Amino acid sequence: MTRDQQTNDVIIIGGGPAGLTAALYCGRARLNTLLLEKAAAGGQAATTDIIENYPGFPEGVGGYELTEKMKQQAVQFGARLQEISTVTTIEADGDIRVVKTEDESSYRARAVIIASGVEARTLGVPGESEFRGKGVSYCATCDGAFYRDKDVAVIGGGNAAVEEAIFLTKFASKVYVIHRRAELRADKILQERAFENSRIEIVWDSHLKKILGNSKVEEIVIENKNTHERTELSVDGVFFYIGSVPNTTFCTGVIDLDDRDFILTDAKLMTSMKGVFACGDCRANLLKQVAVAVGEGALAAVEADRYVEDNF
Ligand code: NAP
Repeated sequence: MTRDQQTNDVIIIGGGPAGLTAALYCGRARLNTLLLEKAAAGGQAATTDIIENYPGFPEGVGGYELTEKMKQQAVQFGARLQEISTVTTIEADGDIRVVKTEDESSYRARAVIIASGVEARTLGVPGESEFRGKGVSYCATCDGAFYRDKDVAVIGGGNAAVEEAIFLTKFASKVYVIHRRAELRADKILQERAFENSRIEIVWDSHLKKILGNSKVEEIVIENKNTHERTELSVDGVFFYIGSVPNTTFCTGVIDLDDRDFILTDAKLMTSMKGVFACGDCRANLLKQVAVAVGEGALAAVEADRYVEDNF
């Protein structure tokens, strides 16, 4: 069947590991593929210093290096990448899906793959938004080098918090990890490294109450949840790693989401909207890892290819 060339076969929303893998597979399936990315391709993985649990790299691999290679590979097989394009909604025009972006452009496609990922969750304590970019950060890889020989705090106790706390000890003289419980959530291997690192001090059972300073962060106030005792710590930086929220605002009211706004799919990764698939961290799956994201990206692409073949 001859297909209208003005309509893309597949539009992929999001250029992290899931989206880039979907783009690679769609390109190799000779689908006319456009990838829309709100910032620069690479996603959250690109801002990770070293990824140690992606198979094939026993020494670990830089997040930026890995995602740049994924991007090259997708482009090499014919996918078109369009960065700085923020999707605002997906509409149906018969069997065609119409993807609209913030700059009021519309893109038509036979199938859509959503791989829009997640972004850092904010805590909402006093001083957090006021000092954002003035000592408050959500990306140690981006901002860590500004804190050479200074004291910083990391909020959270998961893989990201502990991994980034260890990374920050390359620069900072002291890294406080402020965690709300008496046990870390991070993988055991990361916990062992943190416990062995003399520059890391874990502050257990504590909540961050406020961030203080004049033009930039100078101090944080924390509270022990058992004793309610408040302590002030002098720090120059506060890095938040308290989990993430999915980038799915553009799906609200259009595609079924779970109670935390992650996208629901069937086993073929199709969402509640026919011809629209989802993969990677934005999907309601059990594990947020690069290895999972690339696997789901591949599966979404294969299913989207079958869908286009069967329906157009
Ligand atoms: P996460 O695993 O959800 O951990 C979030 C941490 O922040 C938890 O320790 C949690 O405390 C704490 N937290 C949540 N809300 C809080 C609040 N309101 N106040 C204070 N603390 C709060 O998130 P993540 O570390 O960003 O990781 C996200 C996903 O990516 C996970 O699946 C993780 O495994 C994955 N990831 C993997 C790697 C790796 O494999 N190397 C690296 C980075 C991320 P509780 O523990 O008390 O709940």
